[in-house]
Amino acid sequence: MVQCPSESGHEEAAAIFAKTVMERLGFDRVWIDDVGNVLGQIKGNGPTTIMLEGHLDTVGIGNRSDWTFDPHGAEIHDGRMYGRGTSDMKCALMAMIHGAAALIPFKNHLCGNIVVAGVVCEEEFEGVAQGMILDEINPDLVIIGEASELSVKIGQRGRAEVVVITHGKSAHSSNPSAGINAVKKMNRLLGKIETMELPRDEFLGPAIIEVTDIRSEPYPGSSVIPSLCRATFDRRLLPGETEAVVLDPIREIIQGLKAEDPDFSAEVSLAEARQVCYTGKTIDAKRFFPAWRFSEEDDFVKQALAALGQAGLPEKISHYSFCTDGSQCAGIRGIPTLGFGPSRENLAHVVDEYVEIDQLEKARTGYTAIVAKMLNCTI
Ligand SMILES: [Zn+2]
Repeated sequence: MVQCPSESGHEEAAAIFAKTVMERLGFDRVWIDDVGNVLGQIKGNGPTTIMLEGHLDTVGIGNRSDWTFDPHGAEIHDGRMYGRGTSDMKCALMAMIHGAAALIPFKNHLCGNIVVAGVVCEEEFEGVAQGMILDEINPDLVIIGEASELSVKIGQRGRAEVVVITHGKSAHSSNPSAGINAVKKMNRLLGKIETMELPRDEFLGPAIIEVTDIRSEPYPGSSVIPSLCRATFDRRLLPGETEAVVLDPIREIIQGLKAEDPDFSAEVSLAEARQVCYTGKTIDAKRFFPAWRFSEEDDFVKQALAALGQAGLPEKISHYSFCTDGSQCAGIRGIPTLGFGPSRENLAHVVDEYVEIDQLEKARTGYTAIVAKMLNCTI
């Protein structure tokens, strides 16, 4: 799996590999959907469906020369497998496939179905491609395999990409008063946004707004007053924060600045992006991925912990600090969701990314245990 490069939009080899493995292991039905997600189903006796989900895509490798080991080599050294996607999160997906396959001999005793899904384009749009699977499968519970160091994750902050544009008027910069400088207008707006008060969640931490890029037009600007300035913000979201909750306070700041300065002109919106999938289908989406959080008292959380305990694994609860596909299943649709996976969050997207084989094997055991417990069967 790690030897199949699969940056977002180019997951075909990884999808076909996962499909082949599931077919060989004896899944009842294995298929690839319109956008290139790969799905495998094990049919039990009952209407319930548990979905195990991991993304197929990875970020790029950056500079090859920075890597000690071949980023697509899947080399094993000292109990670790190295390579892009080992930790985030192809190995977890394979652990899910093998963990689910361990229940195939007992499937007549399962009170429901298992679906393992390898999802495309998560690194571009958390949960958008997953939504297409949810429409088709309608699961009762989703397990996200992002790195959790084998703890059970019951929430995450969401994220929004917010774009702010200020408008000015071009003039020769030898005579600035003839124009309106869009960069200076942005500077004022940035100062106000920086001091906005944002909420905090005891469990998930603070909401955040952080500027991540800024660009003026014309660019480069030589002896010209910039007529436009565009800044992007990473806004980390807490549960319940909607598009309006994110954008309205910035609109109010803009209104306030307009009232003080008739030349001030600005607008705010969510970033929109398009991704062409390897199947040729196009995904268009706003970059708004809500937060989610379940309670330690929720029955499915308690059951998952008990299952892990019975399998000899730790019974720990925590939350993700990054954003995952859970934004769709839990954040938008409210489907009971938990995260459980091998490795550490901070090994995602790094040079010399690795996964510990020991964690990987324990994750596979954990997936089998959780699903067996949820589907009310003993093995
Ligand atoms: Zn990931």
